[in-house]
Amino acid sequence: MPELPEVETVKRGLAPTMEGALLVRAELRRPDLRFPFPENFANAVAGRRIIALSRRAKYLMIELEGGDVIIAHLGMSGSFRIEKGPIEAGADPATPGAFHHPRGKDEKHDHVVFHLDGGSGPARVIYNDPRRFGFMDLARRSALADHVFLRGLGEEPTGNALDAAYLAARFAGKIQPLKAALLDQRTIAGLGNIYVCEALWRSGLSPKRSAGTLVDKRGRPKQALIALTERIRAVIADAIAAGGSSLKDHIQADGSLGYFQHSFSVYDREGEACRTPGCHGTVARIVQAGRSTFYCPHCQK
Ligand SMILES: [Zn+2]
Repeated sequence: MPELPEVETVKRGLAPTMEGALLVRAELRRPDLRFPFPENFANAVAGRRIIALSRRAKYLMIELEGGDVIIAHLGMSGSFRIEKGPIEAGADPATPGAFHHPRGKDEKHDHVVFHLDGGSGPARVIYNDPRRFGFMDLARRSALADHVFLRGLGEEPTGNALDAAYLAARFAGKIQPLKAALLDQRTIAGLGNIYVCEALWRSGLSPKRSAGTLVDKRGRPKQALIALTERIRAVIADAIAAGGSSLKDHIQADGSLGYFQHSFSVYDREGEACRTPGCHGTVARIVQAGRSTFYCPHCQK
């Protein structure tokens, strides 16, 4: 699954090519991905100018002139690449946001081609997805809040609305493990397994403790929750920054985009030494609600 920073990086990689460009035609090479494309998809988007690219949770939004928005999800193995120039030239493919899963460039998995006419001539944005768990939908901008994938989503971990008072209101009285409470998309939208593990490790908080223990009797956030909130925002900001620098490297060179996996402090490090200064603990892996949790039982209380 791509995490939020990956989707944000894909958005930033695509924006210079897509924003302001005319979407001449959407070429659908099959009737479906994980779900069928909406029946009117190709017709509705053809000839529309792309106003802006945005992101909500792990959804990429392509906002079109006229009020329609393409909602895209990368699934397990989806990626975009950009080809510029006339089709015959076949010049310079680039893949914004290829991360820790190897991205297929096999053309038989190119399922959607957006043919664009931008300021610097024709371009194609190609969606490749070998496993086809990704999907695309079309919605009116005015109805986005009620869209089946978007309604009920909580605050963005990058937005100012995510603060300790908000989390305290959500966590008060909860005996649910903190890990599960943080993964609840109705509370924080787009925060995934990797970054929950990282934020808890940075905060010295056990994933197993009850979420309600971070809230005082009057419903106010304890100091630990204030610190956790800051670290959630920081861990996402750091990952987006790392994605941005890998994107820059990629555009300058040609190889596939390296993920910043080496910078994970606790995720996927079972049996390795804890990196908290002064801690001599060992990273453990447990399974909570079917998902792997990595944490240090020594310093995360
Ligand atoms: Zn430790």
